[in-house]
Amino acid sequence: MLAVQLKAEEEILPLISSKRLFIFECLGCRDVHYPVEQAKEFMDGLKAEIVGKATLDYLCHREFVEEYIKAYAAEIEKAQVVLVSSCGVGVQVVSSLLEDRLVYTCCDTLNLNGFQGLTVKEYNCDQCGECYLNYSGGLCPVALCSKQLLNGPCGGSQNGKCEVDPDMPCVWQQIVDRLATLKQLDTLDRFGTAKNWNVSPVS
Ligand code: SF4
Ligand code: SF4
Repeated sequence: MLAVQLKAEEEILPLISSKRLFIFECLGCRDVHYPVEQAKEFMDGLKAEIVGKATLDYLCHREFVEEYIKAYAAEIEKAQVVLVSSCGVGVQVVSSLLEDRLVYTCCDTLNLNGFQGLTVKEYNCDQCGECYLNYSGGLCPVALCSKQLLNGPCGGSQNGKCEVDPDMPCVWQQIVDRLATLKQLDTLDRFGTAKNWNVSPVS
């Protein structure tokens, strides 16, 4: 099972303040661990302009999310940032469908022992605690890099493919390409500092 919890406001507010937001909130895992009340309090307290919000179950379900994106296309078009409140899989699904948009998450995803529910193979989350997706263009280096590198590429990539498995794209090449397209390459600075492996579920 996985647990989702809100990031500290100091991490998320600088990314979204004074921006027009569209919010996706996933309630699919609320029975496991999703802080429904705390998330509501956080969103109600945001100073940013919220141009739209979609609340759904199973943001990890790509076809389902595609339909929501079509239904909310006008609101999403007005937004400067799409903020996602979900586990790392849901964030990656939204990010992959809105590649020309800044997609941020306000959550960390943590591992709990037990049965893993609905999971999309194409977008994986290793539930590592402090989620990096806000700095990696919505692509996860923990789950998608063969060496789980957090300080940048290993240098072995050939033609955009991973040196460990040439059938896989090199996720670090994808991260750099995506951040360049979004003009967000400066966020790579985050990878020069140590990851906080001590993020743990709140009781
Ligand atoms: S960085 Fe990757 S593995 Fe860690 S919580 Fe985010 S999506 Fe999951
Ligand atoms: S080639 Fe890319 S994806 Fe493969 S191990 Fe190196 S950095 Fe990771």
